[in-house]
Amino acid sequence: MLTTKVETYKNYINGDWIEALEKETFESRNPANREEIVGRFQASKREDVKKAIDAAHQAFPSWAKTAPSKRAAILNKAAEILESNIDQLAEELTREEGKVIGASKGEVARSAQTLRYYAVEGLSFTGETFPADDPNLNVYTKREPLGVISIITPWNFPLSIPVRKIAPALMTGNTVLFKPSSDTPLIAYRLVEALHKAGIPAGVINFVTGSASDTGEELVSNAAIRAVTFTGSTRAGEAIHRSVSLTTRTQMELGGKNPLIVMDDADLDKAVSLTVNGGFSLTGQACTGTSRVIIMKQLKSQFVEKLIQKTSKLKIGNGFEEGVTIGPLANEKQLKTVLHYIEIGKEEGAELVYGGEPITHDNYEKGYYVQPAIFTNVTPKMRIAQEEIFGPVVSIIEADNYEEAITIANDVEYGLSASIVTNDIKRSKQFINDIESGTVKVNGTTTGNLINAPFGGIKKSSTSTFRESGRVGLEFFTQTKTVYVHS
Ligand code: NAP
Repeated sequence: MLTTKVETYKNYINGDWIEALEKETFESRNPANREEIVGRFQASKREDVKKAIDAAHQAFPSWAKTAPSKRAAILNKAAEILESNIDQLAEELTREEGKVIGASKGEVARSAQTLRYYAVEGLSFTGETFPADDPNLNVYTKREPLGVISIITPWNFPLSIPVRKIAPALMTGNTVLFKPSSDTPLIAYRLVEALHKAGIPAGVINFVTGSASDTGEELVSNAAIRAVTFTGSTRAGEAIHRSVSLTTRTQMELGGKNPLIVMDDADLDKAVSLTVNGGFSLTGQACTGTSRVIIMKQLKSQFVEKLIQKTSKLKIGNGFEEGVTIGPLANEKQLKTVLHYIEIGKEEGAELVYGGEPITHDNYEKGYYVQPAIFTNVTPKMRIAQEEIFGPVVSIIEADNYEEAITIANDVEYGLSASIVTNDIKRSKQFINDIESGTVKVNGTTTGNLINAPFGGIKKSSTSTFRESGRVGLEFFTQTKTVYVHS
């Protein structure tokens, strides 16, 4: 799987593939083998970002007037391009981010589906009409695009998250500046390339790679930016929120500390599967990943025994290898953070009953591998029970009853996703009402969401402004005018 020749990829500004003004580049490396360079990318600076914003600004009036059916045709064509290159794109995604190849294929397919979804949904996205006493008066709301949108995305879903922002932004007539994570610029480049090949007019989408420290400020504070849609850490989200002007709209999807409550009537095998899938798939690097299991005291021993048994069967390795279910962590910083939190957990007095060791022998030595970790004897105020780790670490917290469990579940600053395992309908309805979370599941994994349903968090998991995904995902990118027509 080693590349022989390392390609250098360019920015995309005003319809041209161009180098950054200072002609510096940075490398993207394979987290399963840090010696493998996946590609070199433009180390853009503020002036490159300005240039891209200018191009988007110039292109806006014409794109805003472009027939919606033409915009839809471009999204559909881009979807076709992604689908017809699914094997190559999935391979690049795995090489760059580390997730297992099946998951990468799923992400490419989902991204194509999302482009198609917005191509259809955007055509019937309307305002409202209002009854007026005067029969000669028509009152309605009209939806208009905002202008230039800044789109900043993380590495964990490096294709599907950009698509769920870019597709509704373009479909509603906005122009875009897209800055991907510096860990996953290649798959982001491929998305822009697909839109380019699909015939998107110059300046409508612009793509700039480079570190947040060099590009971030301009991306969020340039006067021409009308909205920033960001997915990433709460820390970065808070910094961006402080930098935007009063007239810049923001949508932020941030961190999580997602609980799975296991009630006394739960099917234990199901609860174990939900924990393993929610906590360890994608190497625990999902914003909606299960990081806390809150379990009724009397079930704990049996649950932990079954959980260890199932976790020990997971195969860790390079995402290209047959049967591997857990790939490496995405980068060195991730590995350090996960190991740091495992130490914190031990120091706090939690018991590490499984895993938590870095894996460095044989084929693993060049990658960022860690065994999934299970902590018991975790108390609700410990740092491992409060702070987002964003890795394969599950903390088991015991509770005496539902009331205690829901108090623990809500006693964190996040509110992204939560689930309960129970067969009691009344209890599940109570949970749906009581839980402080943007996504609520009953007998499901905390991870996973539909492209046609709204997605987003509450508390510090989001700005609680606009939801992403689904039909409401279009709202963020438009403003309404209320129109009174007298005839
Ligand atoms: P991150 O460090 O916050 O970075 C995300 C993106 O923002 C990257 O493109 C980064 O650029 C850029 N960035 C960072 N600081 C910035 C600033 N001050 N101004 C402008 N841009 C800035 O997050 P990550 O490590 O990539 O992703 C993991 C985090 O994302 C986790 O906290 C996870 O929960 C969250 N996440 C949330 C959701 C959701 O929907 N709620 C989904 C997925 C992930 P560089 O790469 O150049 O640093």
